[in-house]
Amino acid sequence: MFSRINKRFLHHSITCHSDFSHIVIGGGIVGISTASELQNVKGNNVLLVEKNHKLGEETTSRNSEVIHAGLYYPPNSLKAKLCIKGKNKIYDAWNKGKFQIDLQKCGKWIVAQDEIEEEYLNNLQKNADELEVPVEFISTKRAKSIHPLIKANKAILESPTTGIISAHDYVLFHEGRFENNGGTLGLSSKVKDISYNKGNLNYSVMIESDGEIMEMTTDNIINSAGLYAAEIANMILPKEKQYDYYFAKGNYFSFTPEIPLGKITNKLIYPCPNPNAASLGTHLTFDLGGQLRFGPDLEWLNVTRADDIDYTPNPQNLKSAYEAVKKYFPAITQNSLHPSYSGIRPKILSPEENKKQFADFIIKEEENLPGFINLLGIESPGLTASWAIADYVKDLYYK
Ligand SMILES: Cc1cc2nc3c(=O)[nH]c(=O)nc-3n(C[C@H](O)[C@H](O)[C@H](O)COP(=O)(O)OP(=O)(O)OC[C@H]3O[C@@H](n4cnc5c(N)ncnc54)[C@H](O)[C@@H]3O)c2cc1C
Repeated sequence: MFSRINKRFLHHSITCHSDFSHIVIGGGIVGISTASELQNVKGNNVLLVEKNHKLGEETTSRNSEVIHAGLYYPPNSLKAKLCIKGKNKIYDAWNKGKFQIDLQKCGKWIVAQDEIEEEYLNNLQKNADELEVPVEFISTKRAKSIHPLIKANKAILESPTTGIISAHDYVLFHEGRFENNGGTLGLSSKVKDISYNKGNLNYSVMIESDGEIMEMTTDNIINSAGLYAAEIANMILPKEKQYDYYFAKGNYFSFTPEIPLGKITNKLIYPCPNPNAASLGTHLTFDLGGQLRFGPDLEWLNVTRADDIDYTPNPQNLKSAYEAVKKYFPAITQNSLHPSYSGIRPKILSPEENKKQFADFIIKEEENLPGFINLLGIESPGLTASWAIADYVKDLYYK
């Protein structure tokens, strides 16, 4: 409820008369971890605004919940840097017993079925070596003796630092830190408009809550509104600098095996992605409760506003998911797969552009808008990277 927002005026803001030092827009995993890190800085007075009545209800709860190792991305990219750092922060905190979050460092196998895919794995190993992410080839014969139901004709690259985590618990962990440090949470509160007050060097944010519009002022804004981030950015950017945006759905399919999961695999199983694909391919994952699922696939949506997204998993994609899964798990039958749920990737590049260039995270302070930081295209591995993204944003302000 918006009533949870208590305006406090005694903070060290640049202008000394803004309501908050920072307003973070969007309470997914990226927004809450960023708000928490910023609230940790002495003198800051952070408001997190979330339109839903709970945190983490959108993409943060519609993904594979995989702690990615960070081996796929180009070495100088933000995705590589922040994924690896985010992963290490999660495991460090876990090893030190700092958080009671359920996670499992289960590892994953990436399986190659032919020479072309084997070559892909060789290149992936080189990339992982450059990034100092541990990987090793394991023999297909050994793999067959461990998990006979998993098919890998040519090669298997194992990533031992891949894991799974409860996204829900991870959100609660950062939410607890934020509130314990005196951060202000505005739930059921939707940002409707933003303007820059040049004279005061601060921003006015129009927020709708309980049918009322309120104006809050802040020295800094962090736009981490996920699927809505480009819409929010475009509220304040001049026309020529506005972002184009696209949405790509990832459909998941559930499968309840007749044998225990451990008899199928205790590793996540990933195929080799198609060259220039905008996703990692329909893989086998399981959650901490041992529920197995396949996905996500990749389906570009023909909608121009996030509000128009239909999350119903597309049953028409079941056949192609089945074809993809059968290559590495031949025991699957089409009838045993069921559309389960979907998640949506916020894309800044069009389908055509995505084929030609690597789509990195965009995290930047906008020109002529001091203290306004946009986070765009925060797709996978955003869950893994979130804590490192928070540090990165903090460094943009304070380093
Ligand atoms: C299919 C799929 C699979 C994925 N798998 C993985 C994985 O296994 N591992 C991994 O590391 N990453 C994965 N990801 C990526 C990860 O889920 C995202 O990067 C991450 O959840 C993004 O978090 P976020 O906080 O940026 O966005 P969100 O969770 O979407 O949060 C944004 C928030 O902003 C709020 N908001 C929007 N507009 C407004 C407004 N006007 N006012 C107030 N609030 C607003 C929304 O309500 C929402 O809660 C996957 C993503 C997808 C789509």
